Amino acid sequence: MSWWATVLTIFPEMLPGPLAYSLAGKALSAGIWALETVDIRDFARDKHRSVDDAPFGGGPGMVMRPDVLDAAIAGANGSGPLILLSPRGRPLDQQRVRGLADGPGVTLICGRFEGIDERVLEARAVEEVSLGDFVLSGGEPAAIALLDACVRLLPGVLGCPETLAEESFAEGLLEYPHYTRPQLWDGRAVPPVLVSGDHQRVRQWRRAEAERITQQRRPDLWRRQTAQRATVRQTAMAIDEVEQ
Ligand code: SAH
Repeated sequence: MSWWATVLTIFPEMLPGPLAYSLAGKALSAGIWALETVDIRDFARDKHRSVDDAPFGGGPGMVMRPDVLDAAIAGANGSGPLILLSPRGRPLDQQRVRGLADGPGVTLICGRFEGIDERVLEARAVEEVSLGDFVLSGGEPAAIALLDACVRLLPGVLGCPETLAEESFAEGLLEYPHYTRPQLWDGRAVPPVLVSGDHQRVRQWRRAEAERITQQRRPDLWRRQTAQRATVRQTAMAIDEVEQ
């Protein structure tokens, strides 16, 4: 059975978009994952196919109607968690992506306008997920980004699955720097250790670089990493004591 992605949107033509290309596109054609797009407008109740209305309490913008979105959710053939892409949501991270990729699939709601009537979010227990602390004009690019991150983790999608173990966030660290030919470019040489042929030294250098870059650029990640390592050490010591 394919990993099943359902996307509810008023712009179904935006999908698969970039997901039709490269790794995700090949995996889609190969049936590793499947995409169902649901046009929310198909569930509108009037001849103008309107999905939004003015906000109670006044203010700018329009709000997506709860009845129309609810009917679209009911009409979808979705599997996995029901997620609204939203700047109010919990920021997406690799751990969540991994969890979604390990499940049956995901059902994504792409917001538009000022927002969505809160009642349908409550009634359907919709989880909100954010791409970060910035505002997009619609949920579709966020849905595409989320799906891209999940699909590349599905078995059989990456030619060389070992890359997953080494890339950013795999161990709570950012990735080390990469170099390729020419060995000397524009007066800049590649770090000599990488051409030493000493695999252990290469591993050590990459680890040290990953740690340095994480410490420098993402002190938040670094603190979590060192806290985690301390817990692992304490647990190991506790087990040793019990065994003695
Ligand atoms: N008025 C809203 C923003 C609406 S933007 C607010 O202030 O929170 C319109 C739609 O774009 C949202 O419903 C959501 O689906 C999508 N969107 C905007 N920013 C996003 C982000 N950072 N992450 C995920 N989706 C986002």
